[in-house]
Amino acid sequence: MNPLIKELKGANMDIDMATPKDKILWHQDTCPWNEAEETQDHKCAVKNISLCPYFCGVNYMDILLCCYPHPNPLSEENPVNRGINDGNL
Ligand code: SF4
Repeated sequence: MNPLIKELKGANMDIDMATPKDKILWHQDTCPWNEAEETQDHKCAVKNISLCPYFCGVNYMDILLCCYPHPNPLSEENPVNRGINDGNL
């Protein structure tokens, strides 16, 4: 990582891929989980409420990283990562 950039934990983000087209002026891709379930319920990161289990972060400037429908490769709840974190792999 660029040494001028710091990683700060605990961001209170508000990110979704479910904003109605008439509410924003730019193109927004659709949440694949919402698309699969034909809903608008799933949000990536909602301030003070939740973080989607498929949320893998963001890339500059506004690129969402999403792993749906696969288990999150970054989550500590992913057995693969749990093994690494436990020193079992
Ligand atoms: S992280 Fe992916 S699956 Fe989760 S709400 Fe965002 S776009 Fe949808």
